[in-house]
Amino acid sequence: MLKGKVAIITGGTRGIGLEIVRLFKENGAEVILLGSRAETVDKAIQLLNDEDIKIEGYYPNLSNYDEVKQVADKIAEKYGKIDILVNNAGISASKTIDDTTSEEFSKIIDLNLNAIFNMTKAVVPYMKKQHEGVILNTSSMVSIYGQPSGVGYPSSKFAVNGFTKSLARELAPFNIRVNAVAPGITNTDMVTNLPKEVIAPLIKTIPLGRIGEPRDVANAFLFLASDMASYITGDILSVDGCARS
Ligand code: NAD
Repeated sequence: MLKGKVAIITGGTRGIGLEIVRLFKENGAEVILLGSRAETVDKAIQLLNDEDIKIEGYYPNLSNYDEVKQVADKIAEKYGKIDILVNNAGISASKTIDDTTSEEFSKIIDLNLNAIFNMTKAVVPYMKKQHEGVILNTSSMVSIYGQPSGVGYPSSKFAVNGFTKSLARELAPFNIRVNAVAPGITNTDMVTNLPKEVIAPLIKTIPLGRIGEPRDVANAFLFLASDMASYITGDILSVDGCARS
């Protein structure tokens, strides 16, 4: 489904991002994964190598536009183009507003929103030149109704939806599609780090009766990245077992 495409995936070292990397590779794309540190990027590359998946990775500071642009330029020069950007890196929060410092709030916005701006700004000139491109963002089901504490996280994801819908309109004339996937509770470190007594009652609220697997979410990214979604832009696709209702 992605034969000959060049895709950059942030937060590609584990969880949902790592599964998107696997699935895009399975579907014929050249994939470049980005992570936060040399060690985690090397670990992911090694893991994928052991699965016979050859891949390269970088670890720019996503909050620093100049660093991000340098990496995007390097990739475009090496591969000749950038077709797909998946802005997936993200951190969550669960503390109450009383316990959250202003620095902690800013840190979330910085990665979950500002980094998306930086990455997108760095690749858009290449996509415009090609008159083709796909930008996909990882939102969350909390972007629909918020969450009981950790206000920075849903705030950032509401913003991701706004970014997605607005940029879709701005870039449509250039044949660049912009969409987001809004996962529900998904089986990654982000969730397995939560106490069981927090997760168990949440599962009871999911009509499909289970939490999502990274592959469930990666499949939605594959669809939106592919030509199957050629007339879809500005959309937020929920992959949450209907937990939002
Ligand atoms: P995860 O913690 O397993 O992975 C997070 C990824 O983000 C890692 O690859 C990590 O390297 C990267 N990352 C973290 N901090 C970074 C930094 N400072 N700079 C660069 N990269 C950094 O989590 P996940 O569940 O795979 O989350 C992936 C995305 O899915 C996030 O945007 C998250 O908000 C979203 N999401 C997850 C769930 C869930 O239940 N797991 C639900 C909804 C949305």
